Amino acid sequence: MMMDGTDTARAIGKVPLHELMAQARCLRDAGHGMVQSYSRKVFIPLTKLCRDVCGYCTFAHPPRKGEKAYLGRDEVLAIARAGAAAGCTEALFTLGDKPELRYRAAREELAALGHPSTISYLADMCALVLRETGLLPHVNAGVMGSDEIAALRKVSISQGLMLEGTAASLHAPGGAHHGSPDKDPVARLETIRLAGEQSVPFTSGILIGIGETRPERIAALDALRQLHQRYGHIQEIIVQNFRAKPGTRMAAAPEPGLEELLWTIAAARVIFGPDMNIQAPPNLSPETWPALIDAGINDWGGISPVTPDHVNPEAPWPHLAELRTGTVAAGKHLMPRLGTYPAYLKDHSRWLDHALVAPALARIDAAGFVRDTDWSPGGGFALPDLFVTESGARDATIAAILEDLGNGAVPDEAAIERLFTARGHDLRTICMAADALRERTVGDVVTYAVNRNINYTNICAYACRFCAFSKGKSHEALRGAPYDLDKAEIARRVQEAWDRGATEVCMQGGIHPAYTGETYLNILRTVKETCPDMHVHAFSPLEVAQGAKTMGLPLRDYLALLKQNGLGSLPGTAAEILDDEVREILCADKLSTREWLEVVEAAHDQGIRTTATVMFGHIERPVHWARHLLRIRTLQARTGGFTEFVPLPFVHMEAPIYLKGQARKGPTLREVLLMHAISRLVLHPLITNIQTSWVKLGIDGAEACLRAGANDLGGVLMNESISRAAGASFGQELSPREMVALIRTAGRKPRQRTTLYGEVGTGRQNASWDAAPLAPLINSAPYKRQRQEA
Ligand code: SF4
Repeated sequence: MMMDGTDTARAIGKVPLHELMAQARCLRDAGHGMVQSYSRKVFIPLTKLCRDVCGYCTFAHPPRKGEKAYLGRDEVLAIARAGAAAGCTEALFTLGDKPELRYRAAREELAALGHPSTISYLADMCALVLRETGLLPHVNAGVMGSDEIAALRKVSISQGLMLEGTAASLHAPGGAHHGSPDKDPVARLETIRLAGEQSVPFTSGILIGIGETRPERIAALDALRQLHQRYGHIQEIIVQNFRAKPGTRMAAAPEPGLEELLWTIAAARVIFGPDMNIQAPPNLSPETWPALIDAGINDWGGISPVTPDHVNPEAPWPHLAELRTGTVAAGKHLMPRLGTYPAYLKDHSRWLDHALVAPALARIDAAGFVRDTDWSPGGGFALPDLFVTESGARDATIAAILEDLGNGAVPDEAAIERLFTARGHDLRTICMAADALRERTVGDVVTYAVNRNINYTNICAYACRFCAFSKGKSHEALRGAPYDLDKAEIARRVQEAWDRGATEVCMQGGIHPAYTGETYLNILRTVKETCPDMHVHAFSPLEVAQGAKTMGLPLRDYLALLKQNGLGSLPGTAAEILDDEVREILCADKLSTREWLEVVEAAHDQGIRTTATVMFGHIERPVHWARHLLRIRTLQARTGGFTEFVPLPFVHMEAPIYLKGQARKGPTLREVLLMHAISRLVLHPLITNIQTSWVKLGIDGAEACLRAGANDLGGVLMNESISRAAGASFGQELSPREMVALIRTAGRKPRQRTTLYGEVGTGRQNASWDAAPLAPLINSAPYKRQRQEA
């Protein structure tokens, strides 16, 4: 919601400050919930020469004898490297406006550097910092033309230009902007407009207390509002208060009081509505942070642990620990963001140059904020303790949703999405609620199955962009050679699994172009001829659909045939994210959401039980998780056919979509814990088993999930290959002894189960306990399948 500009000043002027702030708070909370963001940055003052002479400025100065006009390449890199070492994500380049137009020293130094202009040198330094340190540049380069904006767009994640003010009096003799051609509001608004044309996420704002009136402030905000309405590119509005600095023309000018600042922040929020990011720098108003938050801001701007605020050197940035404490005291989470905001990262193909997408995605979580730790699934990183390090602000909305769930309410999409925003105290509360519900529902027992994975072929006609396992026309470069197991090797692996105590073989493979429905039936016959009592948990819904199609049979008839030939249950894989918005990017040629649900429902109708999975942490957002959970819940309410829900964290290292720079680094640990906990809460009482994946999370990750609602560890697997192909490093088997040790370490009771959660006889248990080492695998080379089957 944005107010029309014409009557805004009059309307806002009539509202008492406390009411205006209440209205602003309400709008802010609707748009940003518990989040108060900031960007961890280093400040790189590329040049302090400027052709302007603003009355309040200590940043710019004329050329000084013996002092270089520009930071050199090594100086720029040294600052950026120090920032990267201190965990910064943003390199903020701030500089004077076109000094070469005023100073010969600037022209000569630029020529020596091999650049015709300051902007040209700036673009070069941005590229250098991006390439050498991975910091994402944000540039404040002054008034620019279209070509200059375009050049900087290629090497920066966002750009900025303070409008400061539009009042004519500011330019009159004695005014703050007198003698400063680049402070002409017409020129500045034109630069901001040109940035809008090029879809540049853009920062702007106003400087208050430099001689303007309240209506003039509103007019400036309204000019920005109109541009934003047209292009949607203004990512944040900064409300900055003038500070009188010794040695400037305005050293004796009065500074604006707190009430002026609060009024302007609240007015900006009301003018721009809930979604805009409204920022006030915390270093310019120390000891007023709660009031600034109360007035409707949701962002503190850039904070540097390394460099001073070169524009306001008298006002040091607060320590982050202090800022965190102050933010939590005001009831918000302090959240690091990149130089651009989550809303722009969500639609990165529109807002970012291709070169910036990969480094941005590698740094963010599903909500678009900076990942809280370096941990990723599959990587063997030490597990961070989120409960200790996160803040203690509490979200009353989350508390209310948990209470409703406890009273048996069925959550809607918005409620589930809100649960996924939990951090700090709320994260712990959700995990504890899920753990308590798990205890009430299934007690202290943690189950596991002794099974063997048999992936009969890695040849696949599909091109799922997350899949590092398959080998097809576009996949040869990835790990491993193509193979297609022959009947003898399948039988050998089944027999060996039986001898090692397995109760199940879990069989899935690529969609081999020569496989037909008959192939899958033959695989079943091979297993059953070898070990009649082995449970066959096999064929993803995609394989079932493929099998039915190639035999020209309706799904139900083909599923009946599979059952007659020994199929025990289906893995509910190939679900990835059950939302076509995601599937169209991730696996466009695969089953649609509707088709996946149809296959699974048909299986349930045939009395074939299935698991349900979600693969998360790549390109999707929490809203997609909410939809996925609701779709699983709705189907389960109809059929009761799901045995368990299995969250599968995306392992990114070798995944093609990650290697192309178009996916995140898997879910964060916080997201992993939430997925297990929220699925427990949302799917209750329809699905009572929540499985956690040791293959993707490792022992300590799986153990953490056992404390967040999970009650099952899946299978020992014997030959895990899909996650390992994607880069996971947790091995291919977790023996029953290791399973039991893990469960006991978590303070729970181990129980070996069958695929369908039944009891396992002692004979099978003993065999699994004393299993011989696995014989080496024989991955048969691809062969002419049709000929053999004929
Ligand atoms: Fe093929 Fe399955 Fe990999 Fe997709 S996920 S490419 S269908 S093996």
